[in-house]
Amino acid sequence: MSDCLFCNIVDGTIPAEIVYEDKQVVAFRDLNPQAPLHVLLIPKKHIATLNDLESEDNAVMGALILAAKKVAEAEGVAESGYRTVINCGEQAGQSVYHIHLHLLAGRQMQWPPG
Ligand code: 5GP
Ligand code: ZN
Repeated sequence: MSDCLFCNIVDGTIPAEIVYEDKQVVAFRDLNPQAPLHVLLIPKKHIATLNDLESEDNAVMGALILAAKKVAEAEGVAESGYRTVINCGEQAGQSVYHIHLHLLAGRQMQWPPG
């Protein structure tokens, strides 16, 4: 989708600091980090929200989670811990409508989240 910010990052039209890429997934640093490490992981396929997932997306979402594990290991936070978040819809604070998993680490996280 040419009018989607994250599709534009996938196709290189908009630059991003990419930290991981495989056949199905791209991971890049968040422009406005909320923790010392803040990486966004996205499927290359355009899927707007969790609500739009189909059963055929099972594999790509599995790949997304596995990629998060690899990025956490590569960034040295696997042992200290990290948080993963997928915001879905307005009340959750989703602002980019291409599904993405936030990987946050490097500081103590609080619960419940705000
Ligand atoms: P959401 O609020 O939809 O869960 O998360 C969207 C995230 O995308 C935010 O954390 C925001 O900082 C990040 N973001 C928005 N625009 C850009 C951009 O152009 N480049 C990068 N790297 N991150 C972006
Ligand atoms: Zn998209």
